[in-house]
Amino acid sequence: MNMRPCSKYFGKLGQLGTVCTVFALFLTVTPPVSAAEINLYSYRQPFLLKPLLTAFTKETGIKVNVVYAKKGMLERLKAEGINSPADAVLTVDIGRLSDLVTAGLVQPVKSPVLETNIPPQYRHPMGLWFGLTTRARIVAAHKTRVKPGEIGSYEDLAAPRFKGRVCSRSGKHAYNISLVASIIVAKGEKAAQAWAAAVKGNLARKPQGNDRAQARAIKEGVCDVALLNTYYMGKMATNEKKPQQKEWAKAIRVVFPNQGNRGTHVNLSGVAVTKSAKHRAEAVRLLEFLSGPFAQKIYAEQNFEYPVKAGTPLHPMVASWGRFTADTVSLAEVARYRTLASKIMDRVSFDH
Ligand code: FE
Repeated sequence: MNMRPCSKYFGKLGQLGTVCTVFALFLTVTPPVSAAEINLYSYRQPFLLKPLLTAFTKETGIKVNVVYAKKGMLERLKAEGINSPADAVLTVDIGRLSDLVTAGLVQPVKSPVLETNIPPQYRHPMGLWFGLTTRARIVAAHKTRVKPGEIGSYEDLAAPRFKGRVCSRSGKHAYNISLVASIIVAKGEKAAQAWAAAVKGNLARKPQGNDRAQARAIKEGVCDVALLNTYYMGKMATNEKKPQQKEWAKAIRVVFPNQGNRGTHVNLSGVAVTKSAKHRAEAVRLLEFLSGPFAQKIYAEQNFEYPVKAGTPLHPMVASWGRFTADTVSLAEVARYRTLASKIMDRVSFDH
């Protein structure tokens, strides 16, 4: 057995004759363990992911098997434990990302590529998750019933002039919990609770429906303002299957709250490498690819989201809403206050 190639490929390890021989035999007799394959659990939908993964496979030769899910990913990963076939998970909302951390299901990743592409506030300080896109939690305001300048902040939703004019989905939904958590970080528990109680007092109806249902309620005159994630504006405005949603979007003016101070609250879609990953290096390559210029452009084009990588062009409709300043607080910090935010929503009986 020639020692030189072994030294070359295995460094110091290769200089150990026996170990080298073992390695060499292993390489000769074992068919290539297809490490060029990874398993991905995804809350992100096929229409968004397929073009990205096709390009990734073309570039790297790594095949990606995807399990698409709408719910239950956390439970599944917990049940599968260290035997889980999943190498990486793709999900939306800082809440779900931090639940993976709390359950000990993900492992740290250090990558200069990820650190260059993703601003620090949008990734876990130890690399336990990485944001890929952001979405802003905007105020949707009726174009005529709400005067320009009448609402400019989340705090305004609590103002007496909005009595009976606010619609909301459940206060316990992850999107609202993250917003309340961001208010706790900015202003403290007491102020956040006072805000939640006052917004509840301004509600036009009991919290119900999803984000789009709030847009519909504004169009139908049930209320004048509501909180909405930005991408829903794009999805409604271009919905050919349910064209009535275009009318909902048309009734609304996009307001980026808190431009004069801490900035608009944003949330994330993100990715993490599982603790159980059998193909860690390949999974990291996928993360790097998803944070790179090609994937970031697709994200922007397909789903009306804001790519995390600076300099990625926005979808023209997203660009039409105007530039805004996002709250620069770390989302890992926001995630720490989610439990307290949830308690606050219970204390003020937001949903009842
Ligand atoms: Fe959503």
